[in-house]
Amino acid sequence: MSLKVVFLGTSSAIPVPNRSFPSIAVLRKDEVIMIDCGEGTQRQMVLSKIGFGRKMKIIITHLHGDHVGGIIGLLQTMGMLKRIRPVEIYGPRGIKGFIRSAMQYLKIKLQYQLLIEEVKEGLVLQEKEYEVYATRANHLIKSYSYLLKERLRPGRFDVDKARKLGIPKGPLWHKIQSGERIILNNKIIEPDMVLGPPRPGRILGFSGDTRPNRKLSEFFKGADLLIFEATYSDKDFEKAVENMHSTSVEAAKIGAKAGAKMLALIHLSARYDNPSIIEAEATKHFSNVVVANDLEVIEVPYPDSGEPFKRYQIKSF
Ligand SMILES: [Zn+2]
Ligand SMILES: [Zn+2]
Repeated sequence: MSLKVVFLGTSSAIPVPNRSFPSIAVLRKDEVIMIDCGEGTQRQMVLSKIGFGRKMKIIITHLHGDHVGGIIGLLQTMGMLKRIRPVEIYGPRGIKGFIRSAMQYLKIKLQYQLLIEEVKEGLVLQEKEYEVYATRANHLIKSYSYLLKERLRPGRFDVDKARKLGIPKGPLWHKIQSGERIILNNKIIEPDMVLGPPRPGRILGFSGDTRPNRKLSEFFKGADLLIFEATYSDKDFEKAVENMHSTSVEAAKIGAKAGAKMLALIHLSARYDNPSIIEAEATKHFSNVVVANDLEVIEVPYPDSGEPFKRYQIKSF
């Protein structure tokens, strides 16, 4: 099952012609898990054909305008499209008041359920197949970094063992393959009798806006894909300190310390016409690094699959 990360917007607070405001969409089965929702996100969703009908979670790193400016419009559009499925929104304290008051002021009424939760450090949400964790980032206002961690998957199914135990091919195979015990001829057969050891899921890390620190490299430990802000070039280090952002080199060092398999840099300042400067600086400290472009997709493989990461651009028109 592929896990697609679609970069909807990769600019920082001032947009440039080829970069829209921050938003990343993780496509997992029929769900979209969105990290930040900058202005114009809904249009990027149209261009990337993500659509508005999926199961949806929107996770917000912090309440700076460039990261939340697209929420209200997106919610309204989905209302006009007669969306039925609920939408869950997670973010720092204040997110509830911001959304509820804007909707009240604009008289937006939704027929779908809107669940808004203000998060704290630690476990943010639990699903059957994955969990999301938050840790405090280090920015001008209260900000969080997030980690999406898939749960362990059942081990590989051993056909020979299943045959030896006399389990007939069909629904019982399927049941035990998904990790459930079965009863055959009054005997209990546990999944581990035919399955190999549990297999790891994938881990994605999202920095949001932040200065780097040691806590973050711990938090992102073992990430398959780490998406980190690199607002500034190493040459503009003072600006990064002043505005509580990270440089290309700092992001790369966190990626290396965390042992991430791949690092994608986002949130580039409008001052850089050519992102290859940022990429070249980061590459000196971390080999598998890219500067993500708008409407680019990175497909993250299972760590035990031996498959490569895939990277491609969505043809938008
Ligand atoms: Zn920002
Ligand atoms: Zn910010």
